[in-house]
Amino acid sequence: MNARTLWLTWVFAHSILFSFHGWAQPYPPGYFTFPIMPGKPNFIVGTMGELRPSHFHSGLDIKTLQREGLSVYAGAEGYVSRVKVSTGGYGNALYITHPNGLVTVYAHLRTFSRAIGDYVRQRQYARQSFEIELVPQPYELAVLRGEVVGFSGNTGSSGGPHLHYEVRDAKENALNPLAFGFREITDNVPPAFDKVGLRTLDAESRVNGEFGRVEFTPKRTKAGTYVLTQPIVAYGRIGLEVLVHDKANGLDNRNGVNCVEVTLDGREIYAHQLDRFAFAQSRHLNVHTDYATGSRFQRCYLADGNALPIYRLGADQGRLLLRPQSTHRLTVTLWDAYQNQTRLEFTVKGQEPVFSLPTLKINKLPPSLAYSVDENTLVIKAKNIKPGANSADLYVQRKPFQLPIAFYRNGEATYLWDLRRGLPDSVSVGGTSLRLPFRQVIPPKTDLVYGNDSLRIAFNQASLFDTLYLSVARAGDEIIVNTPAVPLLDGISVGIKPRVPGWDQTRTLAYLVRGAKRQCLGGTWINGQLNFRTRELGTFTLATDVLPPTVRLVKASADGISFRIGDDLSGIASYQARINGKWLLMNYDYKRGLIWSEKPDPIQPLRGTFALEVKDLAGNTQVFSMSL
Ligand SMILES: [Zn+2]
Repeated sequence: MNARTLWLTWVFAHSILFSFHGWAQPYPPGYFTFPIMPGKPNFIVGTMGELRPSHFHSGLDIKTLQREGLSVYAGAEGYVSRVKVSTGGYGNALYITHPNGLVTVYAHLRTFSRAIGDYVRQRQYARQSFEIELVPQPYELAVLRGEVVGFSGNTGSSGGPHLHYEVRDAKENALNPLAFGFREITDNVPPAFDKVGLRTLDAESRVNGEFGRVEFTPKRTKAGTYVLTQPIVAYGRIGLEVLVHDKANGLDNRNGVNCVEVTLDGREIYAHQLDRFAFAQSRHLNVHTDYATGSRFQRCYLADGNALPIYRLGADQGRLLLRPQSTHRLTVTLWDAYQNQTRLEFTVKGQEPVFSLPTLKINKLPPSLAYSVDENTLVIKAKNIKPGANSADLYVQRKPFQLPIAFYRNGEATYLWDLRRGLPDSVSVGGTSLRLPFRQVIPPKTDLVYGNDSLRIAFNQASLFDTLYLSVARAGDEIIVNTPAVPLLDGISVGIKPRVPGWDQTRTLAYLVRGAKRQCLGGTWINGQLNFRTRELGTFTLATDVLPPTVRLVKASADGISFRIGDDLSGIASYQARINGKWLLMNYDYKRGLIWSEKPDPIQPLRGTFALEVKDLAGNTQVFSMSL
């Protein structure tokens, strides 16, 4: 999208739904009944648009008195258009479609209302599956405004009792429920700044004399505004990032901030408002934020590959350009959904980077070299460099380039190379060499396969946000593809052919290595090669899961039966329980590793031969049987 269409999209979305810096209420306030304790004070522990791992939070997290079982009320008349029971994600979730086309969503429910619960259970038995997704017809499960449709819980990937509540439009956009003017929430607490980050955006730029990111801690003044007291000098193209939060009345919980605006010398250069986003684009959070920081910092400029239509951007898409002998005044203003605002003011001085190399001592230790990649820039750091052997020799397809020291800090010299000029094979400083595992430049939006005999990586149109300087290294059975600091959009397909034969292919799967933990990515063997998909880069390995899941009886009676189940490596794939040969519904809470039955018939006691079969992802099966 070019700048003009982006601007038009903004103006369009803006005039219909939002007025920046305030609400032009497009929906009649009071259209929806609040889903929890309507009419009483309520508290929000998660806001819409809040930053979550690889997605924006799509609704409100409403506090439920730290317990489960509170009545959940339908927002308005309508019908249950979707019901989903899943082990992870939303757990027990209800979707209600209203006559105006909007859909309200109620997630992590402990149970559904009697009528909805019976409807779901009947179909769980018919399909012999606890996990289920149903799309009832409009006449099947009609609801009235304020009707109790379920009870709050902690099912799915919820980390504590609460109700996750959403409002969606008919085109699968998440809308900010707070735009509907609920009297149940009070918020006159302004948002707050935690940190500000300034980062260089190319090999020539510097922040306080360095290439990379520098973080600053804003100080709050008595007047309530924030300032940066540390002096900042910068040069070249610089990106601003903020780490911010918002609180509401009566609660210490840190929620997300709705809206951020940046001005440079009094002119707006960047703004975003997170009140509406398409579910299909939620993963763009990974470029809206600085992914390498764990997505905690929001960028105040448009990164390459970011297609979210939530921005209003000045020249150079919010990037700062610092020229020598210039002084610039920056302000960052935050708004929450209740128009409470907070401002940060600071000054950045433009200054040509200068550094003086200290007199280097004769050092007997050989230089030690390390490298990293920051967007398009290769960063090489060298310790123990010798007097007179200061520069680095970089070899790009065997052609040497002499790199001068970019800056020198704490006994360490840094050299920079713009990877757009070519992929280097190795670097050498003062007689020490380092091989660099770059393989190929992978442009975004391209179908492309990188491969050799033992490894194949397939990229498609939607794999990447931005250009990837593909690097591949092997260490034993581990394959290291770039680093976990590089985000993927839709992911890649990988095929690994082990160098050493003899793997038990029926039980060997691919795993992503996260520190000491391994996360199963599954996979299929074809001609001695294990093929799998991943949405994350980093270290991959193969592992054979030989142990079946563990099954431990917790309680058995005529009223029901429960077990703890677990698996050592690949994880639980499925379970089936039968009583006298008939399929028995068992609920599963993966967080507690607990499965428990419901009685198929509320009058008849649970009696007879009980059999349970639990499978892991590698196909190992554990069986358990007893008579009840
Ligand atoms: Zn939530």
